[in-house]
Amino acid sequence: MKKQIRTIAAIIPPPAVHMVGDGFKVHNFFPSQRIIGEKGMSPWFLLDYNAKWDITPGEKPRGVGVHPHRGIETVTIAYHGKIAHHDSGGNSGIIGEGDVQWMTAGGGVLHKEYHEKEFSRKGGILQMVQLWVNLPKAFKRTPAKYQAIENKDMSRYPLDDGKSFVELITGDYKGISGPALSFSPMNMFNARLIKGSVADFSFDREYNTGILMIEGEIKINNSEIIPENNFALFKHDGEVFIIEAVKDSIVLILSGKPIDEPVSAYGPFVMNTEEEIKEAYQDYFDGKFGYLED
Ligand code: MN
Repeated sequence: MKKQIRTIAAIIPPPAVHMVGDGFKVHNFFPSQRIIGEKGMSPWFLLDYNAKWDITPGEKPRGVGVHPHRGIETVTIAYHGKIAHHDSGGNSGIIGEGDVQWMTAGGGVLHKEYHEKEFSRKGGILQMVQLWVNLPKAFKRTPAKYQAIENKDMSRYPLDDGKSFVELITGDYKGISGPALSFSPMNMFNARLIKGSVADFSFDREYNTGILMIEGEIKINNSEIIPENNFALFKHDGEVFIIEAVKDSIVLILSGKPIDEPVSAYGPFVMNTEEEIKEAYQDYFDGKFGYLED
């Protein structure tokens, strides 16, 4: 069958911010926005977007203290500033501009997320994204693990103008693959576009698909303009969409196969049933998530 154009279902301006700890000031695009909800962007369960925020210098790094997760992976992408991470599996890392940390909480992990010390001391612009990738039922209790993905390790597909490119975090684009391993099929790319450049994308029609405008402004399918800091959710009416950079732009592109399983979520846990949520809290209170110093 001939591929068809995938059109936009909604353009969502950034919702009111809320604080995560004292270090992240985020717009939650989902699950809180009704049009997307808990399933409209599955396999991603949550998208918190910290738009550009000028951090005043401070000796004590801001952030969010020790807390648990189970049933998901947390994927953090830094666009500006530096973030440090530690978890109870003994993994730690610092990510800077363009880097990604991909933490599989699986059966359970404790972690903490702070501004990196030196960045905190100097201050400056912080801009980042955190996604929670839901895990299929079969992998909810997979052992915790950590993938550090530096910007230099990402695959790049050059576009026709010779300067713009698509940077792959995971998934496939025109014959190349991104480095991160996932538990269900998904694509996560950054399109880094110079004004006037054009990129086309083709994903399975059933895949949930959306884009977050990190910087600049683009035109989609030669019709809708997506302003900075807006999220565009696509319909399931076709495979292909085309973006054109109206300004120099960075676009986060997400397209993945929905996980067609029940979701029961509360706080930091995303499971399939309410029973499993209660169990997660019990296990957490019983100390079964390990230990991590504050
Ligand atoms: Mn967390």
